[in-house]
Formats: sequence, C-alpha cells, structure tokens
Amino acid sequence: MARLASQALRYAIDRIRMDPPPLDAPIPYQQMLAEVGQTVTPSGLGGVEALRLFTEVLAPACISVDHPKFLSFVPGAPTEASIIFDMVVSAGSIYTGSWLEGAGAVFAENQALRWIADLARFPESAGGVFVSGGTAGNLSALIAARHRWRERAEGRHDRTRGLMMASSGAHSSVKQAARAMDADIVVVPADEKGRLNIGALESTMSALDAADRDRLFAIVATSGTTNLGVVDDLSAVADVATAHGVWFHVDGAYGAAALCAPSVRHLFDGIERADSFIVDPHKWLFGPYDSCALLYRNIHDGRRAHTQHAEYLDVLHGEQDETRPWMEMNPADVAHHLSRRARGLPLWFSLATHGSDAYTAAMEKTLDTTRFGAEEIRRRPYLELLLEPDLSILVFRRVGWTPEQYQRWSDAQLHSGQSFVVPSSWNGETVLRFCIVNPRTTNAHLVEILDSMEEDPA
Ligand SMILES: *Cc1c(COP(=O)(O)O)cnc(C)c1O
Repeated sequence: MARLASQALRYAIDRIRMDPPPLDAPIPYQQMLAEVGQTVTPSGLGGVEALRLFTEVLAPACISVDHPKFLSFVPGAPTEASIIFDMVVSAGSIYTGSWLEGAGAVFAENQALRWIADLARFPESAGGVFVSGGTAGNLSALIAARHRWRERAEGRHDRTRGLMMASSGAHSSVKQAARAMDADIVVVPADEKGRLNIGALESTMSALDAADRDRLFAIVATSGTTNLGVVDDLSAVADVATAHGVWFHVDGAYGAAALCAPSVRHLFDGIERADSFIVDPHKWLFGPYDSCALLYRNIHDGRRAHTQHAEYLDVLHGEQDETRPWMEMNPADVAHHLSRRARGLPLWFSLATHGSDAYTAAMEKTLDTTRFGAEEIRRRPYLELLLEPDLSILVFRRVGWTPEQYQRWSDAQLHSGQSFVVPSSWNGETVLRFCIVNPRTTNAHLVEILDSMEEDPA
C-alpha cells in the first residue's frame, strides 16, 4: 500500500507541476484495447500495474484541458492549490449533504459561496450549494422556480404544465431542463449579436395568451453565452420578470466568473435582481472538475423545492426551517441531489490560499489576452473577427476556407500536439472560436496558432 501510494502521489505531483502538460489526444478504441487489454479481472491486476496502464496509456489518451493552447469548448485551468486540495477532499471521507455530518466542510464551502454572492451583490438572505455542473445547477434552479410558482398558486397550478422563457442563445442544458421537467419553453429570438434584448422579450411576452402567461414560471438569461461569450441585458430581463412576477434565473456557468473582473463588471448589472444564478468554478474560476456554484436570492426557495423526506433522513430536518441561518442549512436540501462530495472545497482552499485579489488579477489576465487576440485577428488579412468580444471568447473566420479545411487544420494541430481548437459555427457558417480561461495562455501562444492558419492545411 505504501509503495502504491507513493507511486500514485508521485504521478499526481509530477502532473500538477507540468507547465505546460503535454496536449495529448485520443486513440481509436481498437488500439486502446490492444494496448490495455482487459483490466477488470477476477483476481485483479494489482495497483502498480493498473497505475502503470493509466499513466502510460489511458492518461495520454485524454486531452489536457489545462494545456495553454486548449482553446476549444470551455477549457479549465485549475490552480495547483485547488488540485492538491481536491486530493485532500478525497482522502478526507467527508459527507457534505448535511450540517450534522459535514459542518466544517460546509462552513468553508459556504464562505466561498458568499464570496460569489457578494460579487453579484446578492442580499444576506442569499445562499446556495455546489452541484456537479451547470446542467445540474440550471435544473435545480428551475425546479425551485416552478415550485415557487405552484406554491403561490395555492393548488390552481398543481397539474398545470409550466412554461419558461429563454433566448435562442441559451445553453442546451436549459432546453434539457425543460425536457426533464416536462415543461414548455418559449424561445425568444436573440439579436444579431446573440443577445437577449428587451424588445424581443416584450414582443414574445405580449404574444402569449392569458393561459400561457399564467403558466410562465421563469425567464432565463445567459451571462456569457457559450459559443459567443455574449452577456444578455440582465437589467432589462429583470424588469420584465419583475413586472410579470416570474422567477429570474441567470445562467452564468461560463461567464459569471468575470464578476470578479472590474473591467467587465458593468456587463453583469442586473444580476443582483436575479432569483438564482449559477457559475462553474471548473470553467473560468480556476478549479478542477466538477463544480458549479448555485446561488438563490432566498435560500428557502431552494429548500422548499428540494428537501427529501424519508424515515432515515428526518433526523436531519429537525431544525431545518426558516429560522435557521442559511450557513447551517443542509446542502443536500437545496438542489436535486442528496449525497454529495465537498466539491466546493478546492475553490475554497485556493481562495483562502491566494486571496480573492489573485482571482481578479488572473481573470483580468485572461481578458487582456483575449483583447490582444482580437487585435491580432483584425490585423491579419486572412482572418476576420466576427464579433467584438464581451468576455473571453473570440469568434473569427479564416477567409476562403471550406469546412473540410477548418477540420483538417484542427486535426493536424491536435495530432501534432500543437493546439486544440475545434471548428464551431456562427449563423450556419463554419468558423473558429477561441475560449480563453487560462492565465497561462500567453499572447505568444495565440500568435503561434494564428500564424499556423496563414497557409492552407495540407
Ligand atoms: C457549460 C455551460 C453549461 C453547462 O455546464 P456543465 O458544467 O457542462 O454542465 C450551462 N450553461 C452555460 C452557459 C455553459 O457555458
């Protein structure tokens, strides 16, 4: 056991220290099978051999999301402190569904949540929980929204199918939440920038008949769309939600991390009026997978919707009511989950270690890199910037390339270990997209990638 532990820890420490790590790339299933073989056997391989297979074959077949030239999707850039602490969380065997069992960890997680709540200027009544990701966070918030709507209707809507409103730029997980909840969704057309604007929202609203308006329980805005990084007009959405008495949810899974960046903070004005919002530390808040901070303006909205009752659980609920300070509430009670890992602790430890000013500095660094990238794209005749970046996403065209050429260039970059930039699409056209969340992504890295696009791919 000691030998295995030291080998596993050695691998972990070496991996944490790599700067940069190798990009790595997937290999086909048949090749993987040939190299790894059957690993689950009646007598076991032994830990040393299983670890060898992982470090030599399996791990190199996984792309390193923290590589500074991984700019596809939304990469990750966990701090060393957060990764080290993720290992500590595993070693600690802590259950953080309840204050009774996990008080110390819940206390620390809640200080990290309060930092996020303060960035959004949420009131003292606010509170929340860390869930697995933005998909789980959006679903939990929208379930709470529907629950409050039904409570307020005092039985009139217990069997009414709910309706929510979201822009065409909303993330797929919002539509997925509607499907999971068997609710309807009205899509508000986004403007040409991909933003939910007040005009479209009001005309969609006035096109609803009285019955539909009665079953509307939430309006969802996005603060940082995933493809374009565009922030909806949150104040305008808040006005409409307030006027109609419906729940206002902000999906900030990617973008709300930039609440801590003074240079873009104004884009988020109005988030303080939301009933709930989410942000993923595993995206742009320098934490490891998997973690999403879900915040409610009034934590009891979450608690009433999500608390599970069972004979073996009711001992936990004795004092869980409106009089209890939210900081002592059971994290299990405010989202669609029960057992949970203390997945907020890596963020907490990193924040406690470095201080929140370091987060602001790292965030501004990624925004500066993005602004530099925008300039570089603009000054190259073979590229066209399609949108001024609000946050840290650049969307641009390589003049003259076909979709096949984009794909060939992208594949060659990945398989030569250079970069991971997959084609995206914009108004139906194949384009390129950089998402910059890693403070170790430098101006020089962007120049290398942009230079490689001057020639047509082989
Ligand atoms: C990534 C993302 C999600 C989904 O988050 P996961 O953590 O991948 O579940 C939801 N909304 C937005 C805007 C996102 O960028």
